[in-house]
This record gives sequence, C-alpha cells and structure tokens, in this order.
Amino acid sequence: MATQANPPRPLVAGNWKMNGLAKPGLGEAKRLLALIARHKAARRKLAVDVAICPAASLLGVLRPALKGSAVALGGQDCGTAASGAFTGDIAAGMLKEAGAKYVIVGHSERRHGAKHGHAETDAVVKAKAEQAHAVGLVAIVCVGETLAERDADRTLDVVASQLDGSLPAAADAANTVVAYEPVWAIGSGRTPTLEEIGAVHAAMRRRLGARGRGMRLLYGGSVKGSNAAEILRVPDVNGALVGGASLTAADFWPIVLGATGGSV
Ligand code: PGA
Repeated sequence: MATQANPPRPLVAGNWKMNGLAKPGLGEAKRLLALIARHKAARRKLAVDVAICPAASLLGVLRPALKGSAVALGGQDCGTAASGAFTGDIAAGMLKEAGAKYVIVGHSERRHGAKHGHAETDAVVKAKAEQAHAVGLVAIVCVGETLAERDADRTLDVVASQLDGSLPAAADAANTVVAYEPVWAIGSGRTPTLEEIGAVHAAMRRRLGARGRGMRLLYGGSVKGSNAAEILRVPDVNGALVGGASLTAADFWPIVLGATGGSV
C-alpha cells in the first residue's frame, strides 16, 4: 500500500442525523469544547479539523458556543437549487448563512433506504455539491456500496462510478471531501477489514487523479473510540465521518484523538 508523502490534515466530522434536540445537543457540544481546551492546556496540539453536522434547526443553537472554536459546523444535506419552491429542503446558502462550513451530500440514507430513502441519484448529489461550492461550503460527498454489491464483488466499480457521477468537475481539495461509507457498515457495528478500507481508499485516490491531490478521503460506518485509531492509520484515510458515536462528547472525543494519532 502506497502512503501519501504529505497526508492532508485529517477531518473528523460528526453526523448527528435526526438526533439531538437543543438539549442535550448544546451541552454535548460544550463538553467537546471543554475536552479540546483541556487537551490544549496540556500543550498538546489538536492536529485535526473537527466538525459537527447537526439538524439544520440546531445550527443556530450551536453557533454561538462554537464560534471561533476548533469545532466547525456542517449541514446534513442541501437542495439542488439556490432557492425556490422546494418544500422541506434547505439551500446551501441558508446553511452558510446559519454558520455552516461543510455540508454532507449523498449520504446513503438519502441515496438508498427502502423505508425513508430519498432515492437520490449521482446527478442529484452532484447538483447539491455544486450548490455547496457556489456558496463556498465544503461538500462532504458520500459514496459506498451496499451489501449485495460487496457480495457481488462490485465495491470498487460502484465507488468509482459514484465518484465519477457525484463530484462536480471543479471539485478539488479545498472545496470537497469524499467519505467512503459502506452502506452495510452504517449503524451496524460492522466494519470492513483495514485491508478492505485501504483498498477502496487507494482506488479512490487513483480514480480522482490530479483533482484528488490533497483531497481528504474519510472513512465512515461504525467508527468508534475502540477502532478509530487503527482505521485512521490506514494509508489514504484522512479522517472519519461518524454517526452514532458523535452524539456524545464522551464517545466522540476518543475518535478525534484517534485522528491525531494520540491515545485517550
Ligand atoms: P455510524 O454512521 O457511525 O452510526 O455507523 C455513520 C454515518 O452514517 O455517517
């Protein structure tokens, strides 16, 4: 496995999904800030970017507490247009105005999902990423295979075609992060082996070519304190997108530390 000469600064982003009201959300965000402050007080560097992507209604709740801190805000989705008659959607510009720096697009819960999936295609995801870029948000573009696709040995093909179809032509390291999230690993407690993660990330890096230089490639799917450090050491894994384990500071902090190469 080839290692990168200059790996980009890792990003650990928490995806709160449809969880966390203002209480306990604000308290957890403040606890995370306190843990970061304690870390820095011990003269240790926080060599990682951290973000929380809460429900849109919580952006304004968390913003005052996180302003000027090491923790950025992100949205979980945005519309395919700048504005208009799209009931229930939120525009990238609205997220930006509410204090977001990032927005997740193409999460598998929006691409797939028999019950509540939104059946989003690569073209829809790409349009959302373009909206993000247009207002200066960093798009966190999610890709990943279903269990049936993995069993059929199609993982690399699926991920390659999602990358080709979902990333805007102008995607680069400054405006885009890619998150590889195997659908079957999300919320399941199951993860691919480190070798499997490494193989997908190396293939993504190759596929992205020149525009992927320096771009952060995150792994997501059942990341927790106990597996974060080893996953984050895999070459070409430049951070993590974390669901369930991002909901409390106590669970999230060891993952952030794992990305710094530190221990709890
Ligand atoms: P999980 O979710 O960490 O709960 O598996 C990850 C995600 O959906 O981004």
